[in-house]
Amino acid sequence: ATPAATMVGTSIGAQNGVLFKGGDILERVRDVDTVVFDKTGTLTKGEMSLTDVVVIEPAADGGEAAADGGPDAVGSTSDPRSDGGAVKTSERPERTEESVLRLAAAAESGSEHPLAEAIVEGARERGIDVSDPESFENVPGHGVRAAVEGREVLVGNRKLLSEEGIDPAPAEDELRRLEGEGKTAMLVAADGELLGVVADADTLKESSADAVAALRERGIDVRMITGDNERTARAVAERVGIDPESVRAGVLPEDKADAVEEIQSDGSRAMMVGDGVNDAPALATAFVGVAIGSGTDVAIEAADVTLMRDDPRDVVKAIRVSEGTLSKIR
Ligand code: ADP
Ligand code: MG
Repeated sequence: ATPAATMVGTSIGAQNGVLFKGGDILERVRDVDTVVFDKTGTLTKGEMSLTDVVVIEPAADGGEAAADGGPDAVGSTSDPRSDGGAVKTSERPERTEESVLRLAAAAESGSEHPLAEAIVEGARERGIDVSDPESFENVPGHGVRAAVEGREVLVGNRKLLSEEGIDPAPAEDELRRLEGEGKTAMLVAADGELLGVVADADTLKESSADAVAALRERGIDVRMITGDNERTARAVAERVGIDPESVRAGVLPEDKADAVEEIQSDGSRAMMVGDGVNDAPALATAFVGVAIGSGTDVAIEAADVTLMRDDPRDVVKAIRVSEGTLSKIR
């Protein structure tokens, strides 16, 4: 393209909230044949809210999980102390929805992860006084570890508990049920004992499905990468029109760049679209990296294209600007 055409394209992009990092990037975008979306904060709003709290009873010897929790978990346990929950006279650790949520929220109050913030907020909304953890450690892609009320509390996924030698199996039925609803379910354990499950739900962005449809119409292969588990990821993919076979789930933050490399290993030219929480290296690895919306500073630095708005349809705009056909969609 002539320098003049590049200038026009760059400026039309800017007017539409699509910032190309330079003329060569503007030209490169039209060669993209694959778009890889991050899930959380990119296809979804990344605004989680707490939806479920479930107590998991200890597995009877050789038996299965005793938890048969009703359809709506909150507010129904056989434990008479479930309201208020201040009595701590029993020798066994208390195992109520209130106590599961109280421990989880205190542990998560040290984290800035959207999953964590939703748990803390959800606990407060349910009248729980969330205490500060005595110590706190973030385990990226897994969850958190914290000292709460003198106990070692873990909140996170199956991997987190397994690596700590706690068997997540007694919660498997509940996890599957929640994940099948597209929720992110997290295990809560204290002092080596599995106590319960909490779940957060995210909301899809209204335009995600439109964006995916428009890309596929152009013959672009649309994929998704996420640290979230397989079942949740597939439920979300299905809702936005991404083939569940094109989903890579359970990808650790440090492995996202490798996953992009793998996609590109057959010569595909991938545009990676992320909000930047965890995915700056993946943005840098992709043929084109795109930071969306309230992208973090690191992401904007790693990205070739920055979308000022939070709208995944602007990915299609970027491609159309690059092809010089933006006028056709407005
Ligand atoms: P994503 O790629 O969707 O942004 P992350 O890589 O941040 O996800 O996290 C991957 C998974 O690790 C989450 O789905 C969750 O199961 C677990 N996880 C991460 N952070 C936390 C946390 N603060 N509390 C509980 N679980 C967490
Ligand atoms: Mg993310």
